[in-house]
Amino acid sequence: MTGRRIGILGGTFDPIHCGHLDVGRAAERALGLTQIVLITANTPPHRPQPVASSYHRFAMVALAIGGHERWRASDVELGTGLPSFTSGTLEHFHDRGFAPTELCFLIGADAFVEIESWKDFPAILDRAHFAVVSRSGFPVADMSARLPALARRMTGPSEVATRTTPSIFLIDAPTANVSATAIRQRSANGESIVGLVPPAVGQHIERHALYSTAAITGVTGMRGALGSDTHRPPAAGRLHGQG
Ligand code: ATP
Repeated sequence: MTGRRIGILGGTFDPIHCGHLDVGRAAERALGLTQIVLITANTPPHRPQPVASSYHRFAMVALAIGGHERWRASDVELGTGLPSFTSGTLEHFHDRGFAPTELCFLIGADAFVEIESWKDFPAILDRAHFAVVSRSGFPVADMSARLPALARRMTGPSEVATRTTPSIFLIDAPTANVSATAIRQRSANGESIVGLVPPAVGQHIERHALYSTAAITGVTGMRGALGSDTHRPPAAGRLHGQG
């Protein structure tokens, strides 16, 4: 099959928020993506376990993409009980017949500056195009200076149709200055998160008290009974990096 260009946006999505949707929309527009697959991570990289269970995080992604006809929620990294690695996830797509140049891994510039610590670096860069989208405090214009060894692979998104080898596309687009951490904190403090997450996601968070003070601090109650993966094993590794 020709003409397909799949965007892959991986994240902890604890919760998914308007910044993530801005990344997807910006890449969809700039790269002419035929589909975007949002992959909820099993074990996050370089950080503690998520607050909300993988079930709730996946549910919020599914709610958030309502209305985006070409967006899909993928559970490929969930359910194994094992840490998931982006390099392995990209191989999963190869096994299903996708060429590396048909895949665009979407990533915020704040996360991309750590790419050299990811599992299977630098080989991972040959498994897909990487589309780096600006995030507040992380303009894509800084990427070549921050990662000089990779500068040669970096180019603008208009090159996507002509690049025959996996490349790094820098997408300068406004993305909401919001983080999942700030949303969890606001929610725990009883502050409004309207406008920071899609309305259906906000309702889901409120209905299930996902980020109540008890959930954030790990005090048992709704969280222990309903909110988290109570049988989740400790992180055995990192999502992207090693050790
Ligand atoms: P946390 O606050 O828990 O660290 P987060 O808001 O950074 O979470 P993640 O799920 O870890 O969200 O992010 C997944 C991907 O989305 C990463 O590539 C990240 O760089 C990108 N991203 C998240 N928020 C934004 C944003 N506001 N603007 C641009 N990129 C973003």
